[in-house]
Amino acid sequence: MANLIEDIGILGKDGKELCEAYHVSKDVNTGKSRKLYIESYGCQMNFSDSEIVASILQKEGYDTTSEVALADVVFLNTCSIREKAEQTVRNRLNHFSGLKKQRPELIVGVLGCMAERLKTRLLEEEKIVDLVAGPDAYRDLPKLLAQVDDGDKAVNTFLSREETYADISPVRLNSNGVSAFISIMRGCDNMCTFCVVPFTRGRERSRDPKSIVAEAADLFQGGYREVTLLGQNVDSYKWSEAENNKARLEKKGADGVVNFASLLEMVAQIHPDLRVRFSTSHPKDITDEVLHTMARYENICKYIHLPVQSGSSRILEMMNRGYSREWYVGKVQRIREILGEACGISSDMITGFCSETEVDHEETLSLMEMVKFDYAYMFHYSERPGTLAEKKFSDDVPQEVKKRRLTEVIEKQSQHSLMRNRTDVGKVYQVLIEGPSKKSAEQLQGRNSANKVIVFPANGHRRGQYVHVKVEDCTGATLIGKVVE
Ligand code: SF4
Repeated sequence: MANLIEDIGILGKDGKELCEAYHVSKDVNTGKSRKLYIESYGCQMNFSDSEIVASILQKEGYDTTSEVALADVVFLNTCSIREKAEQTVRNRLNHFSGLKKQRPELIVGVLGCMAERLKTRLLEEEKIVDLVAGPDAYRDLPKLLAQVDDGDKAVNTFLSREETYADISPVRLNSNGVSAFISIMRGCDNMCTFCVVPFTRGRERSRDPKSIVAEAADLFQGGYREVTLLGQNVDSYKWSEAENNKARLEKKGADGVVNFASLLEMVAQIHPDLRVRFSTSHPKDITDEVLHTMARYENICKYIHLPVQSGSSRILEMMNRGYSREWYVGKVQRIREILGEACGISSDMITGFCSETEVDHEETLSLMEMVKFDYAYMFHYSERPGTLAEKKFSDDVPQEVKKRRLTEVIEKQSQHSLMRNRTDVGKVYQVLIEGPSKKSAEQLQGRNSANKVIVFPANGHRRGQYVHVKVEDCTGATLIGKVVE
């Protein structure tokens, strides 16, 4: 597994811990005749989409399994964000070809961003693949599977302008029974030059707020105590009865528009014991209205993932991020004014973007000094085919320079994570218990409002409870404490 995570090449938290791998569908046995196995790669949106896929196929007679050997259908829900992520999927397909030789009737499908990017080329390049479905084509999966059953290959990579899967109640595949993710929008209209998302996930559209509130309320009834509202750019959420496509909505105008601040409020009002989180925010789109809404409701967690990507205004402009270094720092100040020092702020950082100089890199390090992120997901730049950066710029920073700069960014972030965590020692936080800690069954772990993991002795407490924990010690990644009444 460590190799696989390394392959994906995503760094997080304390900079040493590698943070993203793949999720495997869990065993759900309701006596249905066929079994579906899904491996999901990449971002939380993908994990969430796999739950929609499982829900669609459950109605078609499929239970899910965590054992590929038991599966009739194997899906890889893929990520295209980095070359290594795609290579990992290709390695997995290679691995499955042995299985397919033994059981030629096994159906192998590729879903998600890689499917959307490569379309029919995937069928030509990977002979084992029977089915290719892009992120907006999951309703079509029963038909595509029937096509494969009839002996054909099947492809649907049509990108919709309206699809939000609003009416589909996801089957929770990887949940701890306490925290769940709710997809609130799809696609992205920003054209960050390094990013494949606008090409693999299409235009921004927002999901009907009534269906979001109903899903969150159902989860609360089912014992869940935390929901994370998910989208590529949640602050851009905009919905009206007449139109859910953001570009069209802004062009035509409409009455009764629900924005992200009002949606947050609607979800927060379900119950004070239901925590609300959201991800990801775009620095140019998060508004004071959102920050004030967060301040008004104790159950809206005081944590914002606010990816800066670079500290150099010149590089930010080349990335088409829509803000400068000064503007970003001003936004962080606004967060501090409205939500205080305790609000957790994390970031994404890319080193070695096209033409990045030592001066640009120093500006990233100095911005990190100014902000002091609680943690960050850090990458070195990996050019992706089809992106604007590939077309417009030369990927001219040598690999060893990208890597050295990444190491420096990671080192700085490790210092800051530890520094920020040390300010928590001696404080008492409300913690939602998520389950046993990774290291010991005698210890439990949960998060505080600022999204920091806190580990403490179990002492009869259990998953799903709120407790107050006094922090007594910390590492760069974890707070350590004990429950106080
Ligand atoms: S905001 Fe930029 S980086 Fe994020 S998904 Fe959209 S295009 Fe990609």
